[in-house]
Order: sequence, then structure tokens, then C-alpha cells
Amino acid sequence: MENKQDVLDKIVALAKRRGIFYQNSEIYGGIGGFFDFGPVGVEMKNNLKKYWWHFMVEKRENVVGIDGSIISHPTVWEASGHVKSFGDEMVECKKCHKRFRLDKIDNANKCPECDGEFTTPRKYNLLFNTEIGVVEGEKLPAYLRGEACQNIYLDFKNVVDSTRMQIPFGIAQIGKAFRNEITPGKALYRTREFEQWDLQFFVRPEEMEKWFEYWKNERETFYKSLYRKPENLRFREHEQDELVFYAKKAFDIEYNTPWGWDENEGIHWRADYDLTQHSKFSGQDLSYRDPQTNEKFTPWIVETSGGVDRTFLFLLFDSYEEELLDNGEIRTVLKINPKISAYKAAIFPLVANKLEISGKAREVFEKLVDTHRVVWDDRGNIGKRYRYQDEIGTPYCITIDYQTLEDNTVTIRDRDTMEQIRLNIEEIEDFLSDKLK
Ligand code: ATP
Repeated sequence: MENKQDVLDKIVALAKRRGIFYQNSEIYGGIGGFFDFGPVGVEMKNNLKKYWWHFMVEKRENVVGIDGSIISHPTVWEASGHVKSFGDEMVECKKCHKRFRLDKIDNANKCPECDGEFTTPRKYNLLFNTEIGVVEGEKLPAYLRGEACQNIYLDFKNVVDSTRMQIPFGIAQIGKAFRNEITPGKALYRTREFEQWDLQFFVRPEEMEKWFEYWKNERETFYKSLYRKPENLRFREHEQDELVFYAKKAFDIEYNTPWGWDENEGIHWRADYDLTQHSKFSGQDLSYRDPQTNEKFTPWIVETSGGVDRTFLFLLFDSYEEELLDNGEIRTVLKINPKISAYKAAIFPLVANKLEISGKAREVFEKLVDTHRVVWDDRGNIGKRYRYQDEIGTPYCITIDYQTLEDNTVTIRDRDTMEQIRLNIEEIEDFLSDKLK
């Protein structure tokens, strides 16, 4: 694409036009850092989460999942260190009053928007506060979770006691997290409410290095299978001064966004920090006893923690194309991984008002609806329907026409090549299963 700068604007416009995502509370003027997924977006997001879950949980005998709650005992966030320090240093421009994260601006002396002077940096806590209980004066202060992974440490002992899992094993979770970000922006990239996909993999300390490398490779494989253009992915190793005290190393998987390389996911060396902290603050023994050797130890943790919404946005960057057609028109198409597309095929009766054709099309729809996510469209001419489905990334369009009434065949049009073939109705199900494997 020619101009990388306006890609984000085009994607945000497409998202609104086609029901992928919308600014939350738009009729009230919007609210910074909150988005709703529309009818197309919710299908895509569910598919994306399913894709991760299949790769991380279903395919493995040594990983199980949980689904934890958003509010936990407030002491959790003291033990984790978030109450004391979770946040960034912020500066405010004295002239235009815009606020910035100190670590995200190039020049700490001058506002990038208006050249104004900055206030002295202030520490800012990103946790959202809330209260539990109804009686004034007796309410318990609490927090919306600032990261989803804490539930996994809290449930570690429960999982060991209630399943057949033995170390090394992992606990996976996809769930919402909330951060009162200073500068939400770039659509889904930095929001105040978002979803994370996390794995905490529990190991013997002496096997940490091996499993760290293993998960780093697995996560690379995952993103390479998800995106179309793997050249837009890279690892960035954290510098020594970026590492928390317990981490020997850390890597970010970065994506080449229109504004440059930026974080997609982190691979973290958490050692025994989390279980030790929760053990200390709760007074509970969170160590693990090896059933074979009877040896007791606090497991070490390899963490992989990525953003669902961020990946969603990066996938749109990865798949958005504008193509010049022979007739001079521009075709906008989302060449998105078919596993993630909202619909796998659209069913078009060529004409809506001819009963035999729409009846036959209904038959095709009913035949496929239980095995493939299909969508019905009989509005406007076929050209318009193709354009709509291209924009939301539907890989196949199936048209039922006059010839169908004669020989039971339909046309199937491929999103990426725009080629059309004719296929017997009886063959469609296998064709889609084969193509979408
Ligand atoms: P950043 O430096 O961008 O603020 P982080 O390093 O604090 O991110 P982590 O705490 O490691 O992020 O969270 C894991 C993942 O969660 C990130 O890699 C990112 O994909 C996602 N994430 C974090 N903050 C946000 C946010 N405000 N909006 C959307 N996704 C987010």
C-alpha cells in the first residue's frame, strides 16, 4: 500500500462501516479507550480466541484452562506489586494540557503537539478502583484486574489439587484486563478495557531455560501461522535495564505497524516471584510436591502474555488490501486468515424475487449452516454483494442462479483470486471443509 500513514484511518472507517468495531458510547460523544465489537467483529474476535485456545490448550496434554473473575481480593494487588507501582510517569503540557507517557515521547522537554513546556513528571497508577458492598462506610475498596494472569497464580493450588496435572504444566486463560491508560489511542492498540491471552507454565527451576526457549518458539509459530506476512514480525530482547529484578531475560514479539514496530506479546521469565509473593501475603503454602520424588519446591514460571484486541487490530493491518481492477475500480479486501473471518461463505440467490432460486438458495444455506458459518445476502446486485463480503473478508461467495435449477450447480467465487468455479451442490460442504482446514 502506498501511504502507510492513513492505513489506520482507513481501517477504523472500514470497521465502523462494516460492523467490525465501534467507538463505545458514540451517541454521547464517545469515551476514550473503550470500544464495542459489532456483528462482524464479534464473530472474528470469537474465532481469534478459539484459534489461540486450540493452539495453546486443546492441542496439548500439559496445558489446562481457567476463566477467572475480574475482581479479586484487594490484597492480591498488594502482593503483586500493582498497588505500590503500576504505571508510568506522566507529563502534562502547560500550554495544550495534553498528557503523555514519559517513556513514549522522544523529547521530555517539549510537547510534540505544540512545542509547549512540560510539567515535572508524575507517577500515575493505572489500576481502576471500585468498591464491594452496599453500606456506606463499610464498603471494601477493590480493583478491576490490571492484568488477567493473577487469577492463574491464585488458582494454581486448586488446579494442582483438582486435576491430574503434574509439573511441568501450564494454565491458560483469556480474559479482560483494565488499565486507566494515560494515552489510549490508535484504535484497539491501547485501550482502557481489553482482553489478554496468557499462559503461565510451571516448571522446575533447573528446567526454566529449556521451557523459556520452547515457549518463545511456540509463540513465534503461532503468530506466523496467524498472520499472512510473517516479515512484519520480529523478536525484541529486553535490555538489561528494562528487566525486572527476578527476570533473567524477556522478549517482546513485535509487529510492524503503520507507526513502526510495537509490542504484540511478551515472553517473560517470572521465576518464583508470583507464587512466593502470594504465599507471603496469603500465609498459604503454594509450593509443589513432586509425586515421584516427594521433593517440595516453589515452581518457576514462564509467561506468555499477549493482547487479543491488539492482535485483532494487527490482523486488520496484515490483511487490508486495496487492489486496482481492470475496469479502473479499486477493490477493498480483507485477506484475513479464513479461520478468523466472520463468515466462511456467503450464500447469494441471484435474484431475490424468484421463488425457485431463493428456495434453492435456502436449501444450500440449510445444508451448510450446521458445519460452516455461512451468511445469507440477497440485497442489491451481485457486484455489490461481492464488494461487501470482500470488505469483511468472507473467503467464498456461493451464487445460486438459473443454471442451478437445471443442473444443481452453483458458482463459488474465491475472495483472493476472484476466480469462479462451478460446483454441484452436493460437493460444496466437502469443498469448504477442504479449503478451510
Ligand atoms: P505497553 O508497554 O504497550 O503498555 P505492557 O508491556 O504493559 O504494554 P503487558 O503488561 O506485558 O503489556 O501485557 C501483555 C499484553 O497485553 C501486551 O503485549 C499487549 O498486547 C496487551 N496490552 C497491554 N496493555 C494494553 C492496552 N492498554 N490496550 C490493549 N492491549 C494491551
